[in-house]
Amino acid sequence: MKRAIIRNNILLLVGAFMLFFIIVFFSLFAFEKRNQASFMTFILNEVEIEYEQYTGTDAAFVDDYGYDGRRITIMNEQAIVIADTHHNEVGYDESAQDEIVNLGTIASRTSAHIGEELLYMATQLSDGTILRVSITLETQTQLYSVIIWGLSIGSIIIIVIYYFGLKEVNKNLLKPWMKVKEGLLALNEGHYQVMSLTSPYSEINDLLYEMNIINEGTSKHLAQIEAYHHQLDRILNTLQQAVLLFNRDDKLTYFNQDAQKIFNLEDDDLDAPSYWFIRDNQLKNVIHETNQSQQDAIIDVVIDEHTYEAKTIYLNTYEEFGDKPRVLLILKDVTSQRQLEQVKRDFIAHASHELKSPLTSIRGNAELIEYDMLKTKEEIKKSARQINKQTTLMTALIEDMLMLSKLENIEEKPKNEHDLSSILDDVIEQLSIEAKNKDIHIHVTSEKLLLKVDPLDMYKLFKNLIENAIKYSDNNKEVHVTLKKIDRYVCFIVKDQGIGIPKEHQQRIFERFYRIDKGRIDKGTGLGLAIVKHIALKYDGQIALNSSLQKGTEITIKLHL
Ligand code: ADP
Repeated sequence: MKRAIIRNNILLLVGAFMLFFIIVFFSLFAFEKRNQASFMTFILNEVEIEYEQYTGTDAAFVDDYGYDGRRITIMNEQAIVIADTHHNEVGYDESAQDEIVNLGTIASRTSAHIGEELLYMATQLSDGTILRVSITLETQTQLYSVIIWGLSIGSIIIIVIYYFGLKEVNKNLLKPWMKVKEGLLALNEGHYQVMSLTSPYSEINDLLYEMNIINEGTSKHLAQIEAYHHQLDRILNTLQQAVLLFNRDDKLTYFNQDAQKIFNLEDDDLDAPSYWFIRDNQLKNVIHETNQSQQDAIIDVVIDEHTYEAKTIYLNTYEEFGDKPRVLLILKDVTSQRQLEQVKRDFIAHASHELKSPLTSIRGNAELIEYDMLKTKEEIKKSARQINKQTTLMTALIEDMLMLSKLENIEEKPKNEHDLSSILDDVIEQLSIEAKNKDIHIHVTSEKLLLKVDPLDMYKLFKNLIENAIKYSDNNKEVHVTLKKIDRYVCFIVKDQGIGIPKEHQQRIFERFYRIDKGRIDKGTGLGLAIVKHIALKYDGQIALNSSLQKGTEITIKLHL
């Protein structure tokens, strides 16, 4: 800018000087012409007067009155030269010359006889004689060149002085703009910098003052926007949901930290089209469709074994062009929610199925009695026993289901301590008949152990495991039950010599309604080990299973003391 101002000013000045030269030159020229005319007329008059008074010959006259720089020529009526100051030879004809043709006017040309640039003027006397005077142009030319040189040198000096003066003025003029530049740059980086009002020009100081006010306001606004931006970012990053924004071309314009993790995004991916980082076709399509149809949508997508509920929302930004976000995509991890829903669905299906068998049996037996199909007392008794058995099974099933539901829903830990060994004694006593029926001997090793538990939980845990050991053992086998403290744990171990659990089923026997022998519903509800697992989970315990076919099973439960 500084250079441009200097260059333009100098060009302007040079132009002005050139114009000035031309005007001066032509004015001088016009003035000189007028001057020459009166000068020549004066000389011619003087020569004319002197000639008329002169009594000598023409040749003597030109000798006496002609001198260097002033040439006198005397011609007859036909303009034939009679005498000439600068030329001895006479008799030549000058009638064609301009000053002769136009008497009383000035003519200028290079003299053929003298070889110099001369000015001519002639007049005719009353006797017909023509008198002509001529002077050299040299004096005029010299004057012109002195003037031109003087003007040129003067102009150059003026231009040089003007250049340095201009530079200084420029410096003062531009200094405030540098401050404005610094102020704006600082503002761009988020700082507010006051521009000092030190310009020698009050107008510039006024401007700087106004700009300071604007800058202060702008920087406050910028700080507010930045704070708002940070706040929004923090909120979006703590949502535990992935948030992404897409423009009208399905290009990414924003993503939060969760989105970054799910799609492995980097800052460079901003402005990338959705298909660059989204593999799932359904998700890509739903973004595109929301963009086109302006309709929100919800779908479930699976990304890296996680199930996400993907919600697209059309943002009505009233922007036809540009990079404004148009589609908001929110992904919520619903993996456990969906698993739970599936578990619930399975549970309901299983529970209905489990309840159906005893109900069918009860109904069948009831109908036999109702329609007098049973003849003997013994038959009626058998049906009644069957109804009783199925009812007991159903009751056990419902009790187990309620127990499971309670374990899943109540997370509060018990506050009172109970002696586990006395609970175990109760269980052993309860199961002693069952064991006796199969001639199974239960060896119990236990010690008094106080733990903050719900006694019903421990009762169920001990009972389910010992009952299974009896149920899945042949007659005359032995079951070893141990309750003891090892390090900082309570260990409860049930070891039998039963049929054992095949390897491929060992992972799954703790699932609800999972039975190895699907046909043996009468053996149990299929919920026993699921309840054991939930009780262990409730007390942050661990379960270990060790079993081999036809040799026996050992299940260990470890609970923190
Ligand atoms: P159930 O009511 O059928 O016993 P559980 O959940 O208690 O249901 O056990 C699930 C399945 O695990 C049983 O059906 C059985 O096949 C197997 N099982 C459990 N305990 C033992 C064991 N001690 N020995 C062999 N198999 C067992």
